Amino acid sequence: MSWNPMRSGTLICLLAMFSSSLAPGQNAASCANCVEWNKAEPPFRIFGNTYYVGTHGLSSVLITSPAGHVLIDGDLPQSAALIADSIRSLGFRLEDVKLIVNSHVHFDHAGGIAELQRRSGARVVASQWSADVLRKGGVGKGDPQYGTLPPIAAVKNVSVFLDGESLQVGEITITPHLTPGHTPGGTSWTWKSCKDAACYDMVYADSLNPISAPGFRFTKSRQYPQAIEDFEKSFAFFEATPCDVLITAHPEVSGLWDRLSQTEKGVKPDPLVDSGACRKLAEDGREKLRQRLASEGKK
Ligand SMILES: [Zn+2]
Repeated sequence: MSWNPMRSGTLICLLAMFSSSLAPGQNAASCANCVEWNKAEPPFRIFGNTYYVGTHGLSSVLITSPAGHVLIDGDLPQSAALIADSIRSLGFRLEDVKLIVNSHVHFDHAGGIAELQRRSGARVVASQWSADVLRKGGVGKGDPQYGTLPPIAAVKNVSVFLDGESLQVGEITITPHLTPGHTPGGTSWTWKSCKDAACYDMVYADSLNPISAPGFRFTKSRQYPQAIEDFEKSFAFFEATPCDVLITAHPEVSGLWDRLSQTEKGVKPDPLVDSGACRKLAEDGREKLRQRLASEGKK
């Protein structure tokens, strides 16, 4: 339960499902999974001051305080209005979002940030690699999926964090952890949420899925030569970080909807609380990478 700003680490993205169905030149509007991903989901309290405000297939998390809120991920461009509606329906003001952060700069997690920033006036803080992409828009060079992704809109007023540096908004302290591999700038986020005497270590995990554009090899990439080493650092982060409640950038990766249905059925203890969830995530990520590297070895 202790607050431990770990160094480097990363996670998984179901974008694999998406990119495999996306031809070069297609855009988000023609994304085969986007309608399903963007289905409206009623917002709900995860724990304490932490709320789910994302869509059915793409997570977005609001952390609240009387002096301002933090928003993690903006999802698709067409998700921005849904996220804004969810924040308002919980009784909060979008204008009180003071900080927007991101898991990784693919269109399904960062596509809505420009619009949400425009509406809220929040500052955006990102890793150096992600900040470079956000400022320019588009898709970052060195991204394993470069060439198959729709571009993101450019975002203004982006600043860069240091790995493990604590960011403050009112009473909220949130810490970024570099978890690269899925992209070179991937980031996961940790903070504490409390209710009465109980405080939990909350983790928002980036994607750990080793997927790529055709022709890219994680075992031999001139554009991203440290990809495997990055994944290993990310797995190590998730194996070690204190983790009571895990939310993944794609909610089903950590079984959010299944766990939530158990909560609604009154299952005790709270199924959203699982101190082994991050280790399981790392284990699954290691296996996916092992399979991917094995398949590259056969080529
Ligand atoms: Zn992705």
